[in-house]
Amino acid sequence: MRSAITRHMKRILATFSIAALSITFGSCSAQKEAVAPGPLTPLTGPAAPVKTTRNTAYVTPPVQGPVQRNPDINLPSNFSKGGNISFSRVPSAGQYVAITFDDGPHSQNTPRLLDMLRARNIKASFFVVGRNVDLYPGIARQIVAEGHEIASHSYTHRLLTKMSDDQVRQEFDKTRDAIVKATGVQPRVMRPPYGALLQRQREWVHAQYGYPTILWSVDPNDWQRPGSAAICSRILTQTSSGAIILAHDIHVGTVDAMPATLDGLLKKGYKFVTVSQLLAMQSSGAAAP
Ligand SMILES: [Zn+2]
Repeated sequence: MRSAITRHMKRILATFSIAALSITFGSCSAQKEAVAPGPLTPLTGPAAPVKTTRNTAYVTPPVQGPVQRNPDINLPSNFSKGGNISFSRVPSAGQYVAITFDDGPHSQNTPRLLDMLRARNIKASFFVVGRNVDLYPGIARQIVAEGHEIASHSYTHRLLTKMSDDQVRQEFDKTRDAIVKATGVQPRVMRPPYGALLQRQREWVHAQYGYPTILWSVDPNDWQRPGSAAICSRILTQTSSGAIILAHDIHVGTVDAMPATLDGLLKKGYKFVTVSQLLAMQSSGAAAP
């Protein structure tokens, strides 16, 4: 009897280990949520076989109810203007990461993304195109009202390396004006379209506006629309401490990928801050705990 019980306990333990493993590694597909082990057979008496027909129409529903939340983070965002002028990550930032969304606001995808971020208490950074801010000022206002960082990504999203300083100035002036008009706040950082800006231009923009050039260390190539599962797994695989994650809130597949991606990063222990907060950790010389 004792050995029967031991065997049974081993079975239970094995079942739980498999469940725990699938929870630990998570999944980038909403259709493959980890399922808790079913009811255990009683210890006494022979287990009566129960015949059921396989229900192939059943699909595990997406997670409902509470999700893991990013902690409240009350860190300074006033980074020093004297340091580097280009960043693709901030290695000294410990387990903090910044997720960034480019090219919006988008009329449908951005509000949907904002709901996902709010549910998880995550503050992101939105590199907006000035032209789109003029189209959707209410969404830009909502971005700021919900505690996210709003940053400049030019006005027309054209390649800046081919432009004169005067043209570049127009791009950043018009975007700043659109952001200030819609939200009442000034952008503090910028990302050039396609990540392309000559070193001389980076120095010029930094001197003129005080904007550091923000690039990225994690790129899921979501603009190629590889599908939500690929976007999610690329981000989960590439992210390390101090990462700046690039994504685009104009693409429906990117926003679809976010619940699994954000939950996966939270599960791995990463904490989300804005780009300016990440930069402030670097300029303060010490990583926050
Ligand atoms: Zn862009």
